[in-house]
Amino acid sequence: MKTYTNSVNGQSVEAADHQEIFNPATGDSLGLAPLSTESDVGSAVDAARLAQPGWATISDQERRDTVARVAQVLEDNSEYLAELITREQGKPLSGPGSRFEMQACVGWTQVPAALELPPEIVFEDEKRKDILHRVPLGVVAAIAPWNWPLMIAIWQIIPAIRMGNTVVLKPSEYTPIATLEMVRLINQVLPPGVLNTVSGDGRIGAALTSHPGIDKIMFTGSEATGRRIIEASTRNLAPITLELGGNDAAIILPGTDAGAIAEGLFWGAFLNMGQTCACIKRLYVHESDYEAVVGALSTLAGQMPVGDGMDESNLIGPLQNEMQYNKVKELVADARANGCEVMEFGNMPDTGYFLPLTLVGNIRDGQRLVDEEQFGPALPVIRYQSVDEAVASANGLGAGLGASVWANDPEQAQQIALNLEAGTVWINQHGAIHPMVPFGGNKNSGYGVEFGLEGLKAVTQPRVISVKK
Ligand code: NDP
Repeated sequence: MKTYTNSVNGQSVEAADHQEIFNPATGDSLGLAPLSTESDVGSAVDAARLAQPGWATISDQERRDTVARVAQVLEDNSEYLAELITREQGKPLSGPGSRFEMQACVGWTQVPAALELPPEIVFEDEKRKDILHRVPLGVVAAIAPWNWPLMIAIWQIIPAIRMGNTVVLKPSEYTPIATLEMVRLINQVLPPGVLNTVSGDGRIGAALTSHPGIDKIMFTGSEATGRRIIEASTRNLAPITLELGGNDAAIILPGTDAGAIAEGLFWGAFLNMGQTCACIKRLYVHESDYEAVVGALSTLAGQMPVGDGMDESNLIGPLQNEMQYNKVKELVADARANGCEVMEFGNMPDTGYFLPLTLVGNIRDGQRLVDEEQFGPALPVIRYQSVDEAVASANGLGAGLGASVWANDPEQAQQIALNLEAGTVWINQHGAIHPMVPFGGNKNSGYGVEFGLEGLKAVTQPRVISVKK
């Protein structure tokens, strides 16, 4: 059985303990992932601290060139890593699956490599000149989740190193292998110590985020763990970028052509089997359009090939882990027990964490499947009578990551969009993120933004040089 390793100071590091990782589609063993200790966390942070001043003092152009070489490594190893993602995380190779995740990794590396944050004259008169420089924070702790394990790790790692920080990354204990392999490969073109890993469960995450040698924390995951990380950061006062998922509402305006939007709605809700922070998790449909929308989505759901994602004909895979599988099942069972109409589609394989693509009708706000983030392939479709009522429902929960408005007239949709409490409101699309466009949550979905120039600023601190004339 293959044993995978962490990377510290450019070296592969053997661990004393391991956990076996299994394919969520087949139950097959994938190998042994290392389990770090708290002392390993200390060694990784030390390596990152040692490497940071040197990495920060090379020229900006040299760092950009190095990040561009990282993009090339990702591109050259895309197929190897995509197959590992499919085996470990479950999303299929095809469609918006693991090859798509690898394309995103390349894109989200190329863009920061091309961006610059030059010093900026923020004030000047006859007496003084004030120049704002953006300097690195130091060592960044990156805590990645299991749903898009490589892509989200890249979102955290790349801006950080681009701006002269060094990184200690902890992948999720559910999906460590593909991430550790990606880091091993990337390290071929990075100086030792710039990118290090530790692996293990939440205790290792807690040891990392509370470590006094950490200067910034990047976290994507649940609200509950986000709150724990805020508490942990009182030990090091590290600023945090928190992306805590959401319970995104989509509102279809009355009279919208259901056929024209069905495919966008479907993937907006069922991308990665719904295990995506900015997926449609509540669909609000005017009562007069309800039958047409449910009909169009049912047709698509019924046609989707489901199964082991290594088979290139499949577009829908399993849930990633038992915890998530049980959570989604429980929420659907609760809806069924409360009289909702549960519509299930797809022929599920017998093995693995497969759940049917599910639409749930006759459901209202206040029921668990609507109010709690399901993070899985079960979409509540809620009838509304007035657009004001739908907007109030969309804003009625604590989450505020994304939202969308669907309409024949995008101008009309934009007026509604301005009233939705979310970091991004998409029109006639959902979850359409881009490496140049800032992304982050409102309300309980976290704070700080990633991507683009704003994302680069978030991994720097301002230093003003103020000159008397
Ligand atoms: P968590 O937030 O617990 O996990 C996310 C990451 O945080 C993982 O790497 C995890 O490690 C790590 N972690 C756990 N505890 C700590 C801690 N105390 N300090 C630092 N890091 C820690 O989410 P879960 O995986 O438990 O999923 C629960 C729910 O969260 C899901 O059902 C879903 O609703 C939501 N979620 C949202 C995501 C998003 O994209 N916004 C991604 C994943 C989940 P480890 O896995 O090793 O415990």
